[in-house]
Amino acid sequence: MGDCHGCPAATITRPAKTRRQIVAIVGPPNSGKSTLFNRLTGLRQKVANFPGVTVEHRMGRARLDGDHEVYLVDLPGVYSLTPRTEDERVTHDVLGGAMKDMPKPDAVLLILDSTNLSRHLVLAAPVLSLGLPTLVILNMADDLDARGGEVDSAELAMQLGSPVALVSAAKGIGIEKVMQFLAGTTQGAPARNGGGKPLMELPVIQDIPKCRAWAAHAGSKARYHAPAPPLWTRRLDAIFLHPLLGPLIFLLVVIGVFETIFAGAQPLMDAIDDGIQASGAWVASVISYAPLRSLLVDGVWSGVGSVVKFLPQILILFLFIGILEDSGYLARAALIADRTMARIGLQGKSFIPLLSAYACAVPAIMATRTIENKRDRIATILIAPFMTCSARLPVYTLVIAAFIAPKYQVLALLSLYIIGFLAAIGTAKLLKSTILKSARSSFMLEMPPYRWPTPRSLGLRLVDRAKVFLRRAGTVILAVAIVIWVLGHLPLKNGAPPPIDQSIEAKIGHAVEPAIKPLGFNWKIGIGLISSLAAREVIVGTLGTIYGMEGSSEHSVELQKALRRDLTPGGAAALLVFFAFAMQCMSTIAVVRRETMSWKWPALQFAYMTLFAYAAAFAANHAVLWLA
Ligand code: GDP
Repeated sequence: MGDCHGCPAATITRPAKTRRQIVAIVGPPNSGKSTLFNRLTGLRQKVANFPGVTVEHRMGRARLDGDHEVYLVDLPGVYSLTPRTEDERVTHDVLGGAMKDMPKPDAVLLILDSTNLSRHLVLAAPVLSLGLPTLVILNMADDLDARGGEVDSAELAMQLGSPVALVSAAKGIGIEKVMQFLAGTTQGAPARNGGGKPLMELPVIQDIPKCRAWAAHAGSKARYHAPAPPLWTRRLDAIFLHPLLGPLIFLLVVIGVFETIFAGAQPLMDAIDDGIQASGAWVASVISYAPLRSLLVDGVWSGVGSVVKFLPQILILFLFIGILEDSGYLARAALIADRTMARIGLQGKSFIPLLSAYACAVPAIMATRTIENKRDRIATILIAPFMTCSARLPVYTLVIAAFIAPKYQVLALLSLYIIGFLAAIGTAKLLKSTILKSARSSFMLEMPPYRWPTPRSLGLRLVDRAKVFLRRAGTVILAVAIVIWVLGHLPLKNGAPPPIDQSIEAKIGHAVEPAIKPLGFNWKIGIGLISSLAAREVIVGTLGTIYGMEGSSEHSVELQKALRRDLTPGGAAALLVFFAFAMQCMSTIAVVRRETMSWKWPALQFAYMTLFAYAAAFAANHAVLWLA
């Protein structure tokens, strides 16, 4: 194992310059790019975003003999270089030297999974057509060998006209051949593309069927013999993809995830809540200057705290997604969900993000990154906030407890979940038949073998998601909490904050009153609505402040009484419906902008959901008035 044919000759066409050579690592997803990259660079690496896109890449330095170094760039996994998905576009642009702030690479490490060569070899056609010095790495050589597969890499090198190395990135077998190739790139000897003139002519790369035929031909010339799928992968697939058992297990997994996100996270969320309360009380006790104390405790602590307390749910969710994805089950789940999702014009991969949105739209939108089809991804992002996230619960609980007889309360709550779900489906259909219309993406999904997820990969993912989430809580939410507090405490009267009904906030509330009157809301609810633009659950605290109740929560009987005095049944129904549909969440707006790289989509989404919510709340208010 580990033969490398033509490696020593793999030098670059360009003379060595003072700058370090750049070598791009290209390959399909799961071919072992990261494993190889880590092995070659160790800790000399960093993650960066390409300008203008959400795709991340890693840059690192590989140290070679005699103080030489080359830069390695780990590109996103792709099956082709046709720029259809964002990942493909990035890889295409980098290799073509069209990416801003990134010089054209001097050489390429094309890494393919040798246990899946029939499919992976197709990528060699467009990559070799670029004419850059390329080492074709057939990775997972250990696995190929263990499962009785084989390939003649010398013959393949002759066919392709490029050096070929049989490697195991995970076990470190054959790595010296890669180092040799990299060393060649630093010496600048004017050599051709390695293995000499290819025996097989490259196909026209736009012609996908030709490329497939070309790859199949190269494989057969090299006497490629695919390994048998691992026995337990076949056995597990017989169960997980079984026509009856498959969907049943899928349903159980979904219910399990759902249960854990809600029930399992609750104690942790309560603990964080207690911690926030306790630390807030401590801050209150050490700061004697009243305005500052109020700003910190009522503004910052309760505002930021109301968001931070969702951290356990988010971490549990991403832990699940991580386990499902790394173990290989997620690919099967997407296959099973595909047929159902196709009815609303979406695909199987939208399922998990939409399910996640029941906890919180923010991680759900981050989870859409697994959807390659851009239009499907945007459609999923746009409908995700219609799913009933847990931040709506405090409001639902408060209003339902105040207005609905106990025996109908569960039904009312369930109805709210259902109308959100229906709005999502309707919107998806609308989008997919108009602005996001696309040919049904041929559902090409590689079924990876089942593997045990590694704690390291799961841990890295959790740390990353927690950082993204907390950074936002510490910036956007913090700023909004402070603004809301300040508006509620100005203008000062004789150096003291005014009663809430004379504050700037009340003025704003009065100003919007005419617009929300048809929904059955007064100015106090108006302030609540405005403050809930930051985050839905903030309305409970705001209403508590307006009605002059300390430490109000959705369970506070006083607050329920106050609401019953101030809101007609029609207004209450309208309030519930409004919260079901409106996009009141700064974090979601921010994350949609980040993920779509434009203000267009979040602006459209906000306008659509707000109008939808307004119309529905108007209808609800009048329907109740008419019924009563
Ligand atoms: P990437 O998506 O291309 O970056 O692929 P990764 O580097 O994340 O590897 C995908 C999976 O293949 C991981 O579970 C690796 O541990 C595994 N893997 C990578 N290289 C090898 C190898 O040489 N042999 C075996 N058996 N597994 C490998």
